[in-house]
Amino acid sequence: MNLDNRQFESLVLDSNRYLHKSIGSSSLSAIHAKTVLVAGGGGFIGGHLVGSLLKSGHEVRCVDIKPMGEWYQTFDRAENVSADLQDYYNCEAACQDVSTVYNLAADMGGMGFIENNKALCMLSVLINTHLLMASKKTSVDKFFFASSACVYNADKQESPDVIPLKESDAYPAMPEDGYGWEKLFSERMCRHFEEDFGIQTRVARFHNVYGPNGTWHGGREKAPAAICRKVLEAIESGSNEIEIWGDGNQTRSFTYISDCLYGIERLMESNFSNPINLGSSELTTINGLVDIVEEIAGVKLKREYNLSAPKGVNGRNSDNELIQRTLDWAPSIALKEGMRKTFDWIKQEFTLQNSKAQMV
Ligand code: NAD
Repeated sequence: MNLDNRQFESLVLDSNRYLHKSIGSSSLSAIHAKTVLVAGGGGFIGGHLVGSLLKSGHEVRCVDIKPMGEWYQTFDRAENVSADLQDYYNCEAACQDVSTVYNLAADMGGMGFIENNKALCMLSVLINTHLLMASKKTSVDKFFFASSACVYNADKQESPDVIPLKESDAYPAMPEDGYGWEKLFSERMCRHFEEDFGIQTRVARFHNVYGPNGTWHGGREKAPAAICRKVLEAIESGSNEIEIWGDGNQTRSFTYISDCLYGIERLMESNFSNPINLGSSELTTINGLVDIVEEIAGVKLKREYNLSAPKGVNGRNSDNELIQRTLDWAPSIALKEGMRKTFDWIKQEFTLQNSKAQMV
């Protein structure tokens, strides 16, 4: 759509009105220049990020498409907005008076979701593209994009005996269909917005982030949360059985949320603008992950392997040489320690959900 300046300004006004309408009484004009925007702040990583940015003294605007009642965490001190960031004009309103954008918004989930919803995953390209365009228009200084290990070439992930993935292994490109292509394309969009328009962009390739306050049921959950829930269900029902997707020998590394947040902070403080792995290098199999959860829960379950369920690549790990060299740091929280905290939180939620169901 080609617009002259007057048409454009009036559409922006309309978009502000639209956003205002969707946010009720929140006032965008009250925000000063230090404000940072967290797109997808109603989600798992975005919610934790809002909390940590508030703690370090930032003014935070938090935007998510979900109704606020469905956000994993809400903070009264943030400006909380429910709006669709696939819409350019909502992005422009969200970026007003913002110095830094953190884009954590995407239509995503675990393998069960991304293997069956490729078009939806690819449509997240609109969020990142429109946020970058809006950032250019509103003179945002810095832009963070949450990429994924799903950008890596599938040929390098065929065996469970993995060679950890280096950043250069994303090319030649053959990423995860749908979700991974969107991430790879959006990474490059960030790169060219920095080169051509001077917005400083930072791109982290997350490797399986897990922790409390995230999706644990409903079809979008990832392996760590799904396994915690299945173990709790097996105990609750007395079935003492657990279904595992694939043969359980797939290898992965899992990154605890606080490592992820600290990595984002260090990356944003750095001058490094190429994509960088942000993931633990502690490799385990899915069977190994089940062993850990069983030990935490104090049970031993019979394992049923569903070989036709989505299981992703056979093996994947993070090569942390670049992050160590560039940020002088790499994720280090042990899987057992992170899973204990995650299990405890899911157990609380599970118990709460069951007691609500009994009251109905
Ligand atoms: P999440 O699903 O909990 O959070 C994403 C949030 O984006 C959701 O709350 C969702 O409602 C919101 N969103 C989706 N479409 C939107 C739209 N059109 N407008 C506004 N908000 C919208 O997922 P997460 O685990 O917190 O992931 C955050 C980011 O990190 C995503 O970009 C994801 O692809 C990336 N990532 C996550 C992992 C992981 O293991 N969790 C791994 C790799 C990459």
